[in-house]
Amino acid sequence: MPAPYDLTREQLAALLDGEPAYRSRQVWEGLHARVQRPEDMTELPAALRETLEAALPPALREISRRTADGGQTTKWLWALDDGARVETVLMHYADRVTVCVSTQAGCAMACQFCATGQAGFRRHLTEGEIVEQVAVATLEARPRRLSNVVFMGMGEPLANYDRVWGAVVRLHRDMGLSARHLTLSTVGLVPGIRRLATEALPVNLAVSLHAANDALRDELVPINRRYPLAAVAAACAEYVAASGRRLSIEWALIDGVNDRGGDAAELADFARPLGAHVNLIPLNPTPGYPVVGSPPDRVRRFRDQLVALGVNATIRATRGADIDAACGQLAAATPPVVTEAAVSGSDPVRLLHGVRGR
Ligand code: SAH
Repeated sequence: MPAPYDLTREQLAALLDGEPAYRSRQVWEGLHARVQRPEDMTELPAALRETLEAALPPALREISRRTADGGQTTKWLWALDDGARVETVLMHYADRVTVCVSTQAGCAMACQFCATGQAGFRRHLTEGEIVEQVAVATLEARPRRLSNVVFMGMGEPLANYDRVWGAVVRLHRDMGLSARHLTLSTVGLVPGIRRLATEALPVNLAVSLHAANDALRDELVPINRRYPLAAVAAACAEYVAASGRRLSIEWALIDGVNDRGGDAAELADFARPLGAHVNLIPLNPTPGYPVVGSPPDRVRRFRDQLVALGVNATIRATRGADIDAACGQLAAATPPVVTEAAVSGSDPVRLLHGVRGR
């Protein structure tokens, strides 16, 4: 039996065979629009509630939950049915409630400074495993309404394209989240960005750039060797033209590596023609990359340089650093398995199952 949020409408109808036809819609709307567990669907007869509760166990089993920032940030560690582990982070802000979801257990992109990248790839998450992270966060956020979903947890969303897009559609169509409040973040997988440009839903796109010259980016973000900056820029321009959405560029400021005046000038040359907004955060420490984030005054100077060069830039506050819930720190320790992915970890390109060329 698939996980609750992996069921299609047809599979749900088959599961409810023998019940009145309207039950299927009731349960579907209970799961999605009302975000209920079957046991809480009080419009169903008690016996059916019980049957469904047993037939549709959650895909995410809570291993731990930690809070930080005075209760404003919650991080869950989940075990999946095969023992793989992923993390989800819920963040309360004054004007919005945002959940950061994982799209893969581990990641094959091998970005040097990222804890998930340091851990390697285990497997893609299913559509239902991604949607269930949003469902759990929705319940936890109440009485506030969960408003935003960022696909910025563990994994590379565009390397798991079909399942991630399936989740996007479900969140929008069935759970009522606005496409404008959904953000896909990518390391810059060009075929995936191009494919995104053909979709009907205009979600936000964020590109994790971190370097705007190919020599440095080849090192920090190895997939750049396959999809260099010029190709990423062209795909992003295509996406902006097709979707009408403003592009975001993520830039983790690394002390002495990408935080100097010349780096700001290169970034400005990349961002300005795309009309992109730059989000700056000081690098968060991770075990495998012994370099620290830029000090606050250098972060501000970098922002000021970008603004002087005509680029919109915001400094992002780090959330959850003391519980390892901050950007790049998600590293759910998973019992190792030897898979095709683990073996070919040095060649992330081979692992882009989800991305079709066009
Ligand atoms: N693979 C996607 C989704 C992960 S998002 C992507 O790369 O965009 C996680 C974000 O945190 C990315 O922008 C990533 O580059 C950034 N990040 C990774 N490690 C970090 C660290 N140690 N400090 C700050 N940001 C980091």
